[in-house]
Amino acid sequence: MITAHLPSGYILAHAPRPAAPLIFWACILGAVFPDIDLLFFYLVDDRAFHHHRYWVHAPGFWLMALAVITPLALRLPYPLKPAVFWFMGAWFMHLCLDSIVGSIMWLWPVSDQFFQFATVQPTHSHFVLSFMAHWSFALEIAIWLAAAIMYLKRRRA
Ligand SMILES: [Zn+2]
Repeated sequence: MITAHLPSGYILAHAPRPAAPLIFWACILGAVFPDIDLLFFYLVDDRAFHHHRYWVHAPGFWLMALAVITPLALRLPYPLKPAVFWFMGAWFMHLCLDSIVGSIMWLWPVSDQFFQFATVQPTHSHFVLSFMAHWSFALEIAIWLAAAIMYLKRRRA
C-alpha cells in the first residue's frame, strides 16, 4: 500500500468510543509509523534493500514490541493506556495493508521470506505507475473515499 495508510488510520480512529484526542492521534500515528523506516532507507542505507526488511515492518518484531509494551502500558492511566494499544493496533493494520501487494516478512525471525497477497508486475516505467495500474489501487482509492466521507459527515455534525 502506497497512499492509504493515513486515511486508514483516520477510519480506525473513529472506532474507539469514547474517542479521546490522544487515542485519535495514536491511531493516526500508528497507521503510518512503520514507514518511518523510509528515513533510514533513503538517508542512511541508500536504498540498499527493500524497506520492508526493517524491523518495524516485521510482524514478529511488532509482537515482541507488544510483549514488552503491554505490561508497562497496563499501568498507565486513561487515555494513555488505550492510546498505546490503539497505536499498536494501527501499526498492525499497516502491516496487514502492506501485505496486500507490499511484501511482508510474516515469518520473521524464523524466515526472511516475503509474503504478499498479490504481486504488482513492473508494467510501467516507474513502480508507482505500476501500482496505480494494478487492481489493488482501487482499494487505496476506496479507503481514501471512505475516510473523506467520514470526515465530511463529521464536519456536518
Ligand atoms: Zn509500510
